[in-house]
Amino acid sequence: MSKIVLLHICCGICASSPVERLRGDGFEVVGFFYNPNIYPAEEYQRRMEVVKRVSHILNLRLIEGDHDPNPWLDLTKGLEDEPEGGQRCSVCFQMRLEETWKKACELHVPYFTTTLSVSPHKDSLVINRIGSKIDDTAFLVYNFKKQDGFKRAMEFSGQHSLYRQGYCGCVYSMGEKRGQVLNHTQKLYK
Ligand code: SF4
Repeated sequence: MSKIVLLHICCGICASSPVERLRGDGFEVVGFFYNPNIYPAEEYQRRMEVVKRVSHILNLRLIEGDHDPNPWLDLTKGLEDEPEGGQRCSVCFQMRLEETWKKACELHVPYFTTTLSVSPHKDSLVINRIGSKIDDTAFLVYNFKKQDGFKRAMEFSGQHSLYRQGYCGCVYSMGEKRGQVLNHTQKLYK
């Protein structure tokens, strides 16, 4: 079986060291930007532009997924007040990993994984458990924080003067960072 992996990319900066690591492990990597959690639309576009730039630098084939936020909002309904790292994030990981797995199946790519574990704010055990539950033969278990993964991603962003976002992505994480109490409806995402 060919060693091609579909790599879910949460943002361009986080993609750099995982791509390097997977290639070092002998994989051909295809990137998949699927993040309908990102709010607002301008921020989504900004992160998308960074991913395109990083893909160009890394000579990485990139696929963009759907970015309609409404299914994400439906899935996270009732979890608005969860802290970062709580139940809402597990649902968010699950949604993005499931879509990556479906895309891998559609493309006949035998493996999938995600850049999410490179972040020091994200629990790789939770991410890997969710990915393995979706398909334990196709999901590649990685903790991209290891081997200085996060530090190398930051160095890469400095070298290329890349935009660094100040919050995880969804409207609720934006509020947490700013210490605001937010009262959001689906209209905010439209
Ligand atoms: S904080 Fe990040 S991982 Fe958690 S729900 Fe929001 S966007 Fe998803």
